[in-house]
Parts: sequence; C-alpha cells; structure tokens
Amino acid sequence: MKRRRRLHLKKGFYILVLVIVGIIVSTILYIKHNNYIHSNPYLLKQQGYNEKEINRVIGNNNIIKVLLSREYNPYLIDILESKYYIESNLDSYIKYKTKYPDKDYADVIAIINVTNGKDFYSNEKEVDMSKGDLILVNKFYHLSEDYEPEDLVNMEVKYATSNKKIRSHVYDAFKSLVSAAKRQGIKIYANTTYRTYKAQENAHMNARNQKGSAYADKYAARPGFSEHQTGLAIDVHTSLPNEEFVESETYKWLVENASTYGFILRYPKDKEYLTGFKFEPYHLRYVGVDVAKQIEKEGITFDEYYAYYVR
Ligand SMILES: [Zn+2]
Repeated sequence: MKRRRRLHLKKGFYILVLVIVGIIVSTILYIKHNNYIHSNPYLLKQQGYNEKEINRVIGNNNIIKVLLSREYNPYLIDILESKYYIESNLDSYIKYKTKYPDKDYADVIAIINVTNGKDFYSNEKEVDMSKGDLILVNKFYHLSEDYEPEDLVNMEVKYATSNKKIRSHVYDAFKSLVSAAKRQGIKIYANTTYRTYKAQENAHMNARNQKGSAYADKYAARPGFSEHQTGLAIDVHTSLPNEEFVESETYKWLVENASTYGFILRYPKDKEYLTGFKFEPYHLRYVGVDVAKQIEKEGITFDEYYAYYVR
C-alpha cells in the first residue's frame, strides 16, 4: 500500500516537472520569436532587403532607421554610406541615380550637392554674403551688379601687372606666397585679380559677339557669376597654354604650396561638371589656410566643400 502511494507520488512529480519544463521552453521560444519579429534583420527582410544588404548595415542604427522608413531601394544603402551624404538631398540622389545608374555614387552625391541636378545658369540665387571668405560664386550663385568689396587695395607692380586691385587680406596672403616662391627661384605675379561687374559684362558680351553665346558661356562667366568680382580670386600670369603650364615649375610649386598661404586651385582638371569651368591651372581662390588645407586633403572642389561644410 505504502509502496503504491509512493509510486503515485513519484509519477505525479515527474508530470509536474515535465509541465514546468514545457512551459519554460515554450516561453523561451515565444520570447525569441517575438524578439525576432521585432528585430532589425526581420524588419529589413520584410522591407525587401537581402541577407547581404542586412549584414552590411547591421549595427548602424542611423542607416537602418532610414531604410525602415522608406520603400525598398537598391541604391539606398550606398547613398546613405557615402561620405558627403546630405539628408535633405536624399530624394534627389535616388532620382538621379535611378536616371543615371552607371554614374558612381560619389559622383551622384557630388552632382546633387552642387547642382541639385540642374543645368548651369538655370537656377540662379544670390550669393550668401554672410559666409565671408567662404562665399560661393559659381553658375548657380551670383553677386549683385553693385557689389564691390570695401577693402580693395592697389597692387604693386612687383606683384601684379599694372592697375590691379585685390582685397587687402588676400593681398597680404598673396605677397607671402610670392615671396616663398621667390625663395625657391620661382617668379609668380598676378595677371587678373578683382574685376568689376561691368568689366565681366563686357568680356562676356565680346565673346558672345565674336563666337556666340555657347562659346561665351564656356570661356567667360556671365556678369555677376565671376569669382573675380569677389576680390578673392587671382589668375597668376602665364604665357603658356594649359598643357604646358601644368608641366612648369610654377604650377608644380602652386599645387604643393598654395594652401599654405590660404589659396586653392579653384577650377581643377576634369571637374567642369561641378565647377562649371574648364580646367584653369592658374586661377587661385583665397579661402584661408585651414579650409585650403582641408580641401586639398579631401581632394574636392570648393563647390562640394561649400555644399557639405558651409551651406
Ligand atoms: Zn580666373
């Protein structure tokens, strides 16, 4: 009798243990499943992203947040991972990349940041003068007809061809640059510096009268759209065509040293689609030493720098 009761108890105990284990296991499974369907990998998968894409972004919550807030797009991750990505441009990047799938991402980002996909001279705005030495004048931003810097100074013939003016602090920087070059046996002097709106108007008009407006737009900025009106730009003198000037000691010295004095080469080779200007190896723009160094280090145009860091 006693023995049977004990057996009964034992059986009941085992069943109880089994039930408890069962409850624990199913609770764990439930929690696991529940966690999974609320996890980023699951949600991304539901959104249409494949395993490879998911593994790429896992851990980067900023990117995941954007991916989950939008429809699946095959370009989105690359765009979001691009160095010069600007959030407010996201729709434009996608639109542009969809239209030109062969363009690489860095180009898509740069083009949209600078042009917003618009043609030169098609979307004109006034220059934001509050940016000081970092004002951007290009084929989207123009100066007003009556803008003339207040601190223009006359340049000595030692530093420029006759009757040239430039902003005072740019002159100081340029004089340091010229002296440093001279110590290396290189003679640099300015050829074109500050240019008035009126003078630019005449230059553009003459070019247009001679060879038509397409030619004029290629070789001369429209009035208001020339950086020379800022008093921050200097064309150094050269009598050589570009292909020969880039082989000269002067150009090589400028490439290596201009930033030390706060200047950048404003219109680099193969960047016409961003700057709007053909390669001008002689055109210097003053932006200050720190910015010049950074632009040099990052290998970007001032237009790109402005879009990402200044605007
Ligand atoms: Zn120039």
